[in-house]
Amino acid sequence: MNRLVTWITLFLLLLLVQIQSAHADLTRLAENVYAYVGTKDATPARSFAANAGIVIGRDGVLVVDTLISAKEGARFLADIRKVTDKPIKYVVNTHTHLDHAFGNCVFARLGATVISHEADQAMLASKGADMLKSVGNYGLKPEEMEGTEIVVPQLAFNDRLSIDLGGENVRLIRTSPSHTEGSLVVYLPVEKLMFTGDILFSDFHPYLADADFDGWAKTLDALLAMEVERIVPGHGPLSTKKDLQAMKEYLVLFDTKAKALAAISQDAEAIAAELLKVLPKRSLAEWMIAANVKGRYLGKK
Ligand SMILES: [Zn+2]
Repeated sequence: MNRLVTWITLFLLLLLVQIQSAHADLTRLAENVYAYVGTKDATPARSFAANAGIVIGRDGVLVVDTLISAKEGARFLADIRKVTDKPIKYVVNTHTHLDHAFGNCVFARLGATVISHEADQAMLASKGADMLKSVGNYGLKPEEMEGTEIVVPQLAFNDRLSIDLGGENVRLIRTSPSHTEGSLVVYLPVEKLMFTGDILFSDFHPYLADADFDGWAKTLDALLAMEVERIVPGHGPLSTKKDLQAMKEYLVLFDTKAKALAAISQDAEAIAAELLKVLPKRSLAEWMIAANVKGRYLGKK
């Protein structure tokens, strides 16, 4: 009987470990820096597996990106509360695509100041409400968006902004238009850490509909020249500089080949199949290739 109880306890413990590891917990990258990274569930309801993170200073917490909905933002907040009870002072949107900014409302309700680049502040202000109404186009169900409200960043900057969190200096840098016009990186010089938002997709086919290819290449060159050892990409696992280089190669190849193929065909699926043969291997979001072809090379759907 005792042995049976032991086995059952052991089984339940193993089950608990399994359940916990199925959820993305915060990964500690440095003393005061954590990332929400490496989620493999790329469904719309799980923010297309977008990454996020936090920096904790003496005075409070800075949150990097807020996921796709109030539900997702609340899940993130609950995990933040497992590691710190300090006030959440700032939210930085690396850019204002829905999977990085529609959870803003959860943190704004706590009194956090939301920050982005001016161009992405303007993009969310002009398109956010319509996007929220048409989330069905992105594969989201109304119940998954329950409680979600658009919160446009209250504070915006042009090229650089430094934030002193109390013992923790956080730098926001935007070099050129890239993934979006105002895509920025969050840089921690002491830790040699960087959150790139969607300027970097690792092991993940990137979303290119709003891309500025020349500016994106310039931005990647600027990041490659910086002192950085570990990078949290917008989607995909924890990365390094070699992934920035791979991203640049992917973009150049995609743009060159897609232009050539679109000149002789208007069939997005056929073009995507050809592109897949030559593009670097990525294990997630293969469907994105055809979406990018439709969005950028064949005009409007
Ligand atoms: Zn994006």
